Amino acid sequence: MSKLRIFCVANQKGGVGKTTTTVNLAAGLAQVGQRVLAVDLDPQGNATMGSGIDKRALAATVYDVLLESASIADARQRSPKGGYDVLGANRELAGAEVELVTQERRERRLKKALQAVRDEYDFVLIDCPPSLSLLTLNGLVSAHGVIVPMQCEYFALEGLSDLVNTIKQVHANLNPDLQLIGLLRVMFDPRITLQQQVSEQLKSHFGEKVFDTVIPRNVRLAEAPSYGQPGVVFDPASRGAQAFVEFAQEMVKRVG
Ligand code: ADP
Ligand code: MG
Repeated sequence: MSKLRIFCVANQKGGVGKTTTTVNLAAGLAQVGQRVLAVDLDPQGNATMGSGIDKRALAATVYDVLLESASIADARQRSPKGGYDVLGANRELAGAEVELVTQERRERRLKKALQAVRDEYDFVLIDCPPSLSLLTLNGLVSAHGVIVPMQCEYFALEGLSDLVNTIKQVHANLNPDLQLIGLLRVMFDPRITLQQQVSEQLKSHFGEKVFDTVIPRNVRLAEAPSYGQPGVVFDPASRGAQAFVEFAQEMVKRVG
């Protein structure tokens, strides 16, 4: 029997490639035979839409799961092209933060809900919002590890220390299983000297924690969401898609 691995895709900055990483890793893992659930924890619902599911038409979402008015089995949908399941989100999720504040064990709601489907998947990938909020905390409490997509830009390293500290605190206080799995260089353009330099800095600071796979900047990855498909499915021959399939293989090798 295979063992369920739960990962958060997190970075408190917006627009750094979290959602692109989540949906393409989900599709890439599905292509190599893994059973995958993608959890959209961002009220923007981009992972939901990018998986080909209309966020406005959902009868139940991760919001209902966090508030315990639906189970994951009730709320999940199949990505029509992606080959994986999605626990979707929409704007309603923005209210969850406030509504959960008065409730007990509020940071453990997602973890508890995932227990019920643990035998049905090999991987759960949680697309976190761009904040270190109660929603992200639910993700971190549920997970075995964190995948951090990042652009190799000047301030990238600075932003990382907050996230690394948060991971350490959650590890110490709430979830002893939690580890930093790795840093994924995304939207990479090797022609830009600064990106090369930051990439080298990352490797010297974080060593093995930097994934070998590098995701290039590739317009097909950016176009795919408007077709409701992960780039891996939308244009399998594109450089971006190939990099994500390679990343899925690297993940299976590292943790599978
Ligand atoms: P986040 O979820 O961290 O906010 P997204 O995954 O939504 O970030 O990415 C931000 C934007 O950059 C989106 O428009 C996305 O399509 C685009 N993008 C992400 N990765 C790439 C890439 N490797 N090449 C080109 N565009 C990308
Ligand atoms: Mg996103």
